[in-house]
Amino acid sequence: MVAYMEHKNLANETIDDERKQQIADGVHKVLDGIAAAESDAGRTAGSVRLLAATKTRDVGEIMAAIDAGVRMIGENRPQEIEVKAPGLVRQCASRGFALGEAMNSGTEDAQAAAAALGNASAADLTPLPFHLIGQLQSNKINKVLPHVTTIESVDNLALAQKIAKRAVTRGITVGVLLEVNESGEESKSGCEPDEAADLAAQIAELDGLHLEGLMTIGAHVHDEAVIRRGFAHLRETRDALLASGTPALADCRELSMGMTQDMAIAISEGSTIVRVGTAIFGERAFI
Ligand SMILES: *Cc1c(COP(=O)(O)O)cnc(C)c1O
Repeated sequence: MVAYMEHKNLANETIDDERKQQIADGVHKVLDGIAAAESDAGRTAGSVRLLAATKTRDVGEIMAAIDAGVRMIGENRPQEIEVKAPGLVRQCASRGFALGEAMNSGTEDAQAAAAALGNASAADLTPLPFHLIGQLQSNKINKVLPHVTTIESVDNLALAQKIAKRAVTRGITVGVLLEVNESGEESKSGCEPDEAADLAAQIAELDGLHLEGLMTIGAHVHDEAVIRRGFAHLRETRDALLASGTPALADCRELSMGMTQDMAIAISEGSTIVRVGTAIFGERAFI
């Protein structure tokens, strides 16, 4: 158990109207910001998707974001996923969404969703992707696979092989993004930028995995040029992978980059997924 989880009941499903309104305002502001950044960059409206980064937020807060228009969520920690998934899956199903792997995993999630559905059928639900965006230790893989659709934080071949093996055992295919440490900051996970292309090619060949793109966390500096250079390099790496013509790399299109502080820069450099927490939910009381 992570210490902060003792201080907040993350499975809580009920929040007051004021908090709901705050979150709705946050979502609308971020969606407007995405639209403006797309337009400024001369990009097609709707080419950037918003992922709500929901670490430390409870089920009620996350559902308020979904009610306001969020259509993809991301969690950092397997422990948080386990605590929130049953409530999230049930609440999503009651609104017509199939969260993550809920509908085809045959797990407690599927049972929760079925219970919430009543007379409707699973086929009527709209998929709502659920990503893991934080580091994954191999002993936690089986905790997250029943819930998430994509793991964004794959940064080495050994981890990819372990996820692949467990996915094959479960009879599922898991989406993965290769995380690249474009900033070179030691505190960050991610593979070396000059190893990314080879690693992506190897990961893409593994059964049980579907390589959907690349992910990075922007440099933690004030110099916009430095942040921009990292994002641009991730895009160039993605473009080279697509241009290689390798069949297994044909779907390696996503660029998950941009957070509250650097979203507009990331969008101008080609981001397809921005991961935003603070600008939606406010400052985090816990890490
Ligand atoms: C927390 C987190 C985000 C969102 O960060 P904000 O600054 O709150 O928008 C994005 N990506 C990852 C990997 C995170 O851990």
